[in-house]
Amino acid sequence: MKCTFCNEKAVYNVKYNGTALCKDHFINFFERRVKREIRNQTDLKKGHVTISVAVSGGKDSLVTLYVLNKILSERKNITLKAFTVDEGISGYRPPGIEKAFKLSRILGIEHEVISFKNEFGYTLDEIMSIDKTKISCSHCGPMRRSLMNKISMYNNADYLALGINLDDYSQSILMNVIRGDVSRYVRLAPHTGIERDGLIPRIIPLRKIPEKEVVIYAILNNIDYDNGWCPYYKEAYRNEARNIINVLEEKTPGTRQAIVKFFDETRDLLKDNYKGEMKKCRICGQPSQNEVCEVCSDLYEINQKVLKKSI
Ligand code: SF4
Repeated sequence: MKCTFCNEKAVYNVKYNGTALCKDHFINFFERRVKREIRNQTDLKKGHVTISVAVSGGKDSLVTLYVLNKILSERKNITLKAFTVDEGISGYRPPGIEKAFKLSRILGIEHEVISFKNEFGYTLDEIMSIDKTKISCSHCGPMRRSLMNKISMYNNADYLALGINLDDYSQSILMNVIRGDVSRYVRLAPHTGIERDGLIPRIIPLRKIPEKEVVIYAILNNIDYDNGWCPYYKEAYRNEARNIINVLEEKTPGTRQAIVKFFDETRDLLKDNYKGEMKKCRICGQPSQNEVCEVCSDLYEINQKVLKKSI
C-alpha cells in the first residue's frame, strides 16, 4: 500500500481518518499532535521553564521523553529533567530503570531514581506481603503520585509530564464515569487552568495518540523500551474499562477520541463547581484533600499491621 501523501510505502493505516502513512508522514502526523497538546497544555513563554518527565522505562514514557526533547531542545528557555519511581517490584522495575537511564544518557538529560523503599520504608512487594486487604494499585497509585510530585517540586519544575497514551487516558476517563466520581474526573490531568497549591501541574503530551501509534513511533525511532508488564496488573480495575473501550473502538473507530473530546468539553463546564480546597498533609507536607494524605494514612495502617505481627 502507498502513502496517501507521497509515493513511499505506507507503514501505518490510520483507520479513524482513512489515511495510509509512510514513515516520514507518520512521524510528522505523530509530532504535530504532540506539539498541539504541548501548546494547549503549557505556557512555555513565561521565562525559564523546567519540565520534569516521569519515565518508567516503558514505551509511553520513553516516547514522551524522546519527543519532548526533539520538539523542545532548540528552545533555550526549557530544561527537561527525567526521573523514575522505583516501587520495588522485583523482576519488573529494574529493567525499566535501565532503559530509562539509557535513553536519558543518549539524549543528555539528567535522570534520577526515587524509591518507595527510601521514601516510605517499604518496597511495594513488602507492602503486599504485609497488607492483603487492598489491591496493589490502591497502595501503589497514591504513593507513586506523591513521589512524582515530591521530586518535581524538588527539581523546581513548572510541569510534570506523564507518558499516558490515548487508550490509557480514555480508560481513566471512563473509570471515573463508572464510579460516578465527578471530583476526580475534574481533577484528571492535564491541569491546564486548574492549578492547585503544592501540586505541580501535570501534562500529558500523548493523550490523543493511540497506544499502537506510540509503539510504531518507538520502533521507527529505535527507542529501546522495556516491554514488561507489572505482575500486579491483573488486579487492576482498569482492565475492565480497557475491554469495554476496545470492543466499542472495534465497532466504531474513533471512540477513544470521542471520549476525550467529551471529557474536554464537560470538564471545562464542571471545573468551577468542583474546585475543592487543597490542604497540606500535616505529616508529609504533600498536597491533600484531607488533614492527612492518602499515603500517610496508608502507611499508618501498614505500620500498625507490622507492629501487631511483631508482638
Ligand atoms: Fe503500581 Fe498497579 Fe501500576 Fe503495578 S499496575 S505499577 S501495582 S499502579
